[in-house]
Amino acid sequence: MVETTRTALVIFPVSKRFHTTLGLLPLPWAPGDAMTIRMNLNYCPNCGSPFDHPNRGDETRLVCTRCRRPLYRNPTVGVAVVAMKNDMLLMVRRHGSYAGMWCIPCGHLEWGEDVRQAAGREFEEETGLQARLGPVFAVHSNFHDPEHLTVGIWFWGTIAGGQLRAGTDADQAGFFPLTALPEPMAFPTDLLVVEKLRRWMETGKLKQWLDFHDTDV
Ligand SMILES: [Zn+2]
Repeated sequence: MVETTRTALVIFPVSKRFHTTLGLLPLPWAPGDAMTIRMNLNYCPNCGSPFDHPNRGDETRLVCTRCRRPLYRNPTVGVAVVAMKNDMLLMVRRHGSYAGMWCIPCGHLEWGEDVRQAAGREFEEETGLQARLGPVFAVHSNFHDPEHLTVGIWFWGTIAGGQLRAGTDADQAGFFPLTALPEPMAFPTDLLVVEKLRRWMETGKLKQWLDFHDTDV
């Protein structure tokens, strides 16, 4: 009997600094633990044959038993827009995944889509507002869902039109002071972005950065 279910395990440590930065945030893994990411795919997307491990004991790669193509599984790209008004941050309350939790307006880059267009599209879909996109404010790897790893890109955005309303993936949208953000927040890395925003506003660095990029505050 041919065993057709193969699982690759990719185990990598999450840095101590990352945990320290996150403080007491609820994480799906314990500080100091290695994180286990499973690649649960049974059949080759190229030819439909079962996968095999190329080297016994090496669980980190899957290779097709017929066409011998390896499976490279990569994180997808998430895009978010940081938009502020009167020192308040625009947040949305989600429905669908992470329903009832708050996040900076965000979504996924579609196949074939330009990354900045995706950020603008998701922002408008969720908030009803159009954004003029500025520079990248932050980039983080997202490990909060081990089955759906993503790289998040937070663009600076200036509101350029539209009417604020909760859109397709949100049931509330509004501006909040950084000292009184709504809870619970959906994503640990949004909190890193908020922390950076707070720090940069306190020290005046945000204004310097926006002046340098010639972007509206
Ligand atoms: Zn194959």
